[in-house]
Amino acid sequence: TERAVIVGAGLAALRAAEAMRAAGFSGPLAVVGDEPYRPYDRPPLSKHVLTGETPPDATALPGRPGLALDWHLGVPAARLDRTAQEVHLADGRALPYDRLLIATGTRARPWPNPHEGRMPGVFTLRGRDDAAALRAALAAGPRRVVVIGAGFIGCEVARVCRSLGLPATLVDPGPTPLARVLGSTVGGVVGALLREDGVDLRFGAQVEWLEDEGGRLVRAHLTDGTRIEAEVAVVALGAVRNTAWLTGSGLSADPGGVDCDADGHVLDADGRPDPRIAAAGDVARFPHPLYDGRRVALEHWGHAEAQAVHAGRLLAGDRPDAPYSAMPTFWSMQGDVMVKSVGLTDGADAVAIAYGDLAARRFVALYGRAGRCIAAVSVDCARWLPACAELIAARAPFPPDGAAVDRNARSLD
Ligand code: FAD
Repeated sequence: TERAVIVGAGLAALRAAEAMRAAGFSGPLAVVGDEPYRPYDRPPLSKHVLTGETPPDATALPGRPGLALDWHLGVPAARLDRTAQEVHLADGRALPYDRLLIATGTRARPWPNPHEGRMPGVFTLRGRDDAAALRAALAAGPRRVVVIGAGFIGCEVARVCRSLGLPATLVDPGPTPLARVLGSTVGGVVGALLREDGVDLRFGAQVEWLEDEGGRLVRAHLTDGTRIEAEVAVVALGAVRNTAWLTGSGLSADPGGVDCDADGHVLDADGRPDPRIAAAGDVARFPHPLYDGRRVALEHWGHAEAQAVHAGRLLAGDRPDAPYSAMPTFWSMQGDVMVKSVGLTDGADAVAIAYGDLAARRFVALYGRAGRCIAAVSVDCARWLPACAELIAARAPFPPDGAAVDRNARSLD
């Protein structure tokens, strides 16, 4: 019998295990996870877990019954030996494999100064333990919280702080929140929502260093010379892919991801696929057919799930008919406002409001690159997204005209 190992015990790992079993793989199937928990859901961590409405252990992801998995939890995979076909764990054990899935996801990018980053009062948010620790700090009623970085997680945390009645400052070097991903037109709307919620926004500046008194955080110093008195800092500077354990394996991997071919098989340093190994979820960098085969690594829940199902079938020998090509989708709760996206905004050179009204904050913005539709973002207006997904899939001309999209679409940039 063939043996399979899945490294990483998150969403992608669970969905891949289910897909392998559904496709008839009946051999031993081991799952290795460095966290002490079985797979759980991360999106609630920056939302209802932080508010206290959802206990951290209620985020567990139910898997299909009868999967017969051998769990190895609380121990990281330290090394991959492709010649011996073994995954070496940090506790010295070696797990042999005939088929292997790499699903190690990402970790929060740490604060650049390790001494400051480890100071009591300074947090990052990626896992259940992080969320529980930050929740406890917020529940203690700090005088102010400073959130460093206005990406999706930073914005969600700032809004949660306000919903708990805590003074919150959000600092980012960009012109608006989410400017890098959504551009400043849509980012400006998210910024207005945050400001109305009472978040103190500091844009065009960065936190330079974090000061302690008696070992605890007391204030953040900004590059513009201002200081923010805060007892809690949340470092939300994005994510780094968990590929360090692949060093020396001969695979093409770096902190930006492990490279895969269009099927999902990982590539070695010479660009040759390893037919025994696939990757899925946040850690995988793969050529996306919708984006001219450009390699992308996504950090989207829906993508992790869909790509894992594809990879699970591939490893079980039930070769999917077509390369993985799911349309990227994402959502984020900004307080009561739901922001959703389809496609990828990278490289967009123009944005147009396709439906709704920017001033009313209910709209869909369509993004174009070189005259083609590449992405759409909805703010409290998701019902038009499927129509936009069709435009993106068809690489429809941008700005669009005709029946599919409102004729009054106007370009903003
Ligand atoms: P992960 O969930 O990261 O799982 C990988 C697992 O592997 C982790 O447990 C990790 O610790 C473990 N691991 C790493 N290295 C090793 C090793 N060497 N050995 C063993 N195990 C290892 N997406 C959305 O679409 N919408 C949202 O609103 C949203 N909100 C989010 C909020 C937060 C706070 C976070 C952190 C993420 C959010 N996401 C959201 C992203 C989404 O959760 C991820 O895309 C998804 O979890 C990816 O799943 P994964 O299985 O690839 O990776």
